[in-house]
Amino acid sequence: MTRPGGVWRNWGRNQHVRPVRVERPASVDAVRRAVTAAAARSLRVKAVGSGHSFSGIAVAPDVLLDLGELRGVVDVDRDRARVTLRAGTPLWDVPRLLAPYGLAMANLGDIDRQTIAGAISTGTHGTGARFGGLSTQVVGVTLVTAGGELLTIDDEAQHPELLAAAALGLGALGVLVEVTLQCVPAFLLEAVERPDPLEDTLAALDARAAADHFEFYWFPHTDIAVTKTNTRLPESARRAPIPRARRFLDESVMANGVYRATCAVGAVVPAAVRPVNALAGRTFGNRTYVDHAPRVFTQRRTVRFREMEYAVPVETLPAAFRAVRELIDRSGWRISFPIEVRVAAGDDRWLSTAHGRDSGYIAVHRYWREDPTAYFGAVEEILAGLGGRPHWGKEHGLDAVALRERYPRFDDFVAVRDRLDPDRVFANPYLDRVLGE
Ligand SMILES: Cc1cc2nc3c(=O)[nH]c(=O)nc-3n(C[C@H](O)[C@H](O)[C@H](O)COP(=O)(O)OP(=O)(O)OC[C@H]3O[C@@H](n4cnc5c(N)ncnc54)[C@H](O)[C@@H]3O)c2cc1C
Repeated sequence: MTRPGGVWRNWGRNQHVRPVRVERPASVDAVRRAVTAAAARSLRVKAVGSGHSFSGIAVAPDVLLDLGELRGVVDVDRDRARVTLRAGTPLWDVPRLLAPYGLAMANLGDIDRQTIAGAISTGTHGTGARFGGLSTQVVGVTLVTAGGELLTIDDEAQHPELLAAAALGLGALGVLVEVTLQCVPAFLLEAVERPDPLEDTLAALDARAAADHFEFYWFPHTDIAVTKTNTRLPESARRAPIPRARRFLDESVMANGVYRATCAVGAVVPAAVRPVNALAGRTFGNRTYVDHAPRVFTQRRTVRFREMEYAVPVETLPAAFRAVRELIDRSGWRISFPIEVRVAAGDDRWLSTAHGRDSGYIAVHRYWREDPTAYFGAVEEILAGLGGRPHWGKEHGLDAVALRERYPRFDDFVAVRDRLDPDRVFANPYLDRVLGE
C-alpha cells in the first residue's frame, strides 16, 4: 500500500518501493492513456492489487497503477452463470455482487483481501482435490497491452489459444481491466474443524483429501494436525453459523490473538514455542458449523507473517511433509507458525503450480519480525528437489532456468510475452528473474 512519502509496501512488509509515479485510473481509457504515456517515456508500468504478495511480483519501480477505482460488475450472463468483473474488484466484495444472481465463486483461498486480478495473476488457490485454483474459474479477460490496445481473450471466439496464458499471467502480459468468471450456484459449506493425531492424518491423507475441501495445519514441535473438512451443501440446506460472538472469539481472540502472543513471545523466548504450540494445536479448531461458502473458506488474518509455499505432485505430499518435519525436528529452530497443507486438481493454465498434475501444497510461515531466510531456504531445498513449483506470489529463490524445467509450457508463455510486451513495459526485477529479461 502506498504510504505518505510515496513508499509502497506489501502486506508482509518485506517488499518496498518508491515508484516514480502513482496513478489511479478510474476508467479503461485512463488505463490505456497511462500505459501509452509511460511507454512513450520508457517507463515501466505495474498494476498492483491489494499488495498481498510476499514475492516482489507487484513491485513497481516506475509507474504504479492502482486499479482500486475499477471495481464492480460489468456484465452478467445469467443463462451460463458467467459474470464479468472490473479487474480491481476485491474478493471480499464478490459475494455481495453475485448474491442478486444466486451465484458464487466455485472455490476460494484462505482470505478475501486480494483483488480478482491480483489473485488470478499469481495462481492463488484454495483446497479441494477436485477443484483448481482461482484462475481455472476464468473464462475471459480484457487487458491493455503495451501498445495501449485493448485485447479481449475468451474461451470461445476471441483468441482462445491465449486464455491459458492470460488467466494466470503474472502481470507480465498487460494490465487486466476485466475478468469473466464461470460461477456456480451459490452454496453452503458444512465445516468440521478438529485437532487430529498428525500420523493418523498423514496415513489417511488420500481418503481425507477426497472430501470436497480438506486441509490441515500442523503446529511444529507437536503431534497434532488441526484438520478442516468442508462439505458442499445446496443453498436450501439449513444454515447453522457460528454465532457472531463465538466467531469473533475464535478468530480474533483465540486464533489471531493467541498467534500474536505466541509469535511475540517465541521471537524473544524460543523455548516457549513448543509448549505454546501444543496448547494452540489442542485449542484451535474444534467446531462444526454450516454457512455461506465465502464465510467458511476465508478468515481474517490479523497477525502479520511471511510465507513460502510449494506445490508438489500430490502422491509425494506425505513424503514431502515428513521431510520438512524431520528438518524442523533436527534443526533446533523454534517455529511458532503452523505449516498449512492443501490439495488441488491439476489444470491447464500454463504457469499454474498445478499445471498438468494433481498437486499437494505445503506452506511455511514465519512471524514477520523473525528472519525466515534459513528456514525457508532449507524447506525450499527439499521441496524444489522433489520437483516442486513455488507459488508466484510467495517468497522463493528460483530463477527462469530452474522454473523452465518445471513448466512444460514455459517457453510458450515467454513467446506470448514477447509478442504482447516486446519492450518489457510490464517488467520488474522479479519478472526479470523468474521469466528472464
Ligand atoms: C494473509 C495472506 C493470505 C493468503 N492466502 C492465500 C491462499 O489461501 N492461497 C493462495 O494461493 N495465496 C494466498 N495468498 C497470496 C495472495 O493470494 C497472492 O499473492 C495474490 O496475488 C495477492 O493479490 P493482490 O490483489 O494483493 O495482488 P498483488 O500482490 O498486489 O499483485 C500480484 C500480481 O498481480 C498483478 N496484478 C494486479 N492487478 C493487476 C491487473 N489489473 N492487471 C495485471 N496484473 C495485475 C501484479 O502486477 C502482480 O504481478 C495470501 C497472502 C496473504 C498476505
